[in-house]
Amino acid sequence: MALLVQKFGGTSVRDIGRINAVADRVAASVADGNRVVVVVSAMAGETDRLEGLGFEVAPRPPSREMDVLLSSGEQVSVALVAMALMERGCTARSGLGFQARIRTDGNHMRARIEEIDAERLHADLDSGMTPVIAGFQGINSRGDITTFGRGGSDTTAVAIAAAINADECQIYTDVDGVFTADPRIVEDARRLDVLTFEEMLELASLGAKVLHSRSVEFVGKYGVPLRVLSSFNDGPGTLITTEERSMEQLIVSGLTYQRDEAKLTVLGVPDVPGVASKILGPIGEADIEVDMIVQNTGADGSTDLTFTVRRADYERALEILDGVRGSLGARGVEGDDHIAKVSAVGVGMKSHAGVAKRMFDALARENINIQMISTSEIKISVVVAERYLELAVRAMHDAFELGTDASTEETW
Ligand code: ASP
Ligand code: MG
Repeated sequence: MALLVQKFGGTSVRDIGRINAVADRVAASVADGNRVVVVVSAMAGETDRLEGLGFEVAPRPPSREMDVLLSSGEQVSVALVAMALMERGCTARSGLGFQARIRTDGNHMRARIEEIDAERLHADLDSGMTPVIAGFQGINSRGDITTFGRGGSDTTAVAIAAAINADECQIYTDVDGVFTADPRIVEDARRLDVLTFEEMLELASLGAKVLHSRSVEFVGKYGVPLRVLSSFNDGPGTLITTEERSMEQLIVSGLTYQRDEAKLTVLGVPDVPGVASKILGPIGEADIEVDMIVQNTGADGSTDLTFTVRRADYERALEILDGVRGSLGARGVEGDDHIAKVSAVGVGMKSHAGVAKRMFDALARENINIQMISTSEIKISVVVAERYLELAVRAMHDAFELGTDASTEETW
């Protein structure tokens, strides 16, 4: 008997057949004696469709209205799931973000959860009810609907799990768990049994699409055990925990990538204080997110500054740099929007020297040029030409022996 949050993503509620399957699964958990809060996303493709409608009407749609629009997808799915549960004899009731009193800050389309009314959920659970809560949405202090950014239903689920102190938050999705690398690229990619939340946080923010990265922050903050598992197949999935893992852990746990990257370089700027802020200031003011930054001073005393942005922001960033170039005394501005970032993540890296070398050797063997490098305690990322992305991921997967065959070997 456990207190569980079970979250079902868009593909898991894609059609009535899938909704019935979700209801079967939840009803079985309840019949086993568990108390369950269900969180659901909109039916697959629905939020994309709504977003498209918004952009059709207004090229720069007001974010308050977009929140009203986008959040409507979940209103449909919670009602259907609650009804399907009632058909199975469960006492269920749907709840939108405001009804579950999921309070957020005022940032439309990327709101953060500030508070959840756990008492009400507990009271419902105590009365034998299974609440079915809409993911991805909350309410701000003005009483307006807010949403958490695309993929944000995961965050609803983990935040609820933290608020009610659940034994486990289960994220049901269309894959069997978190893999060592994207199985569409790496044939022998393997499901991981367990990952630390630090690793998952890096993987999620470096491109792995399996979880909304903000949801993983909650795992770290509140220690909610989180499990990613398939709603289509039975299996243990991947457990994400705050606990340190045992010795047998591999040096690198997983690889991920981001394809939609671009880089810009300001060439030959005089090497004086304030240059980086003069370049990156206007970029930040334009709300363009900068990821990696590299600065190099040449023999002539001038400096080149290179940074990466999302590919969608590339043209705008280029225009901004062209605008400030004159006042900086820069020699030129260059860019490349056909780059990709590949990252290796693992807590095991902390205690092993030579991880970077192994990775760079593997890339060198394939003749892949590394354009930029960035590291943290538990990750190494490189920027390479986009056309080498798949090759780079495969070469690294082999180099770190992450595949199915390697996993059967002793690792210590
Ligand atoms: N329906 C929202 C989206 O598609 C939230 C979610 O699915 O997590 O982004
Ligand atoms: Mg998702």
